Amino acid sequence: MPFCPVCKSEYVEGIQRCSDCDAALVDVLPDEPEEHTIDEEFVPVLTAKDNEEAQVAREVLVDLGIPVIMQADAAQTAAGNLLMVEQNTLTVPASMLDDAKRVIEESRKAGEESAEA
Ligand SMILES: [Zn+2]
Repeated sequence: MPFCPVCKSEYVEGIQRCSDCDAALVDVLPDEPEEHTIDEEFVPVLTAKDNEEAQVAREVLVDLGIPVIMQADAAQTAAGNLLMVEQNTLTVPASMLDDAKRVIEESRKAGEESAEA
């Protein structure tokens, strides 16, 4: 059975195009992606020295509506095994990198000031 790849409608044999979308019909629908993918690239904004620093920075960013993905730095060995390194890297959408950097910088300054007081 042909399917429309856009609206997923099923058509009878012999139909070539979807009447709604004007898309060429396909015999097999492509597999649905398993995970919701974010189409924007995430770039590293901070590599924290420990998990606590990473969590604090993450909270500051999330409070401001900046999505954060935390990654442990991973290095791939020649054998293809992942070697986990004890580092906490925060990544944010590339378009929010400047905002994220500024926010982290400000929160650090605020932290230093309160530590002195
Ligand atoms: Zn369609």
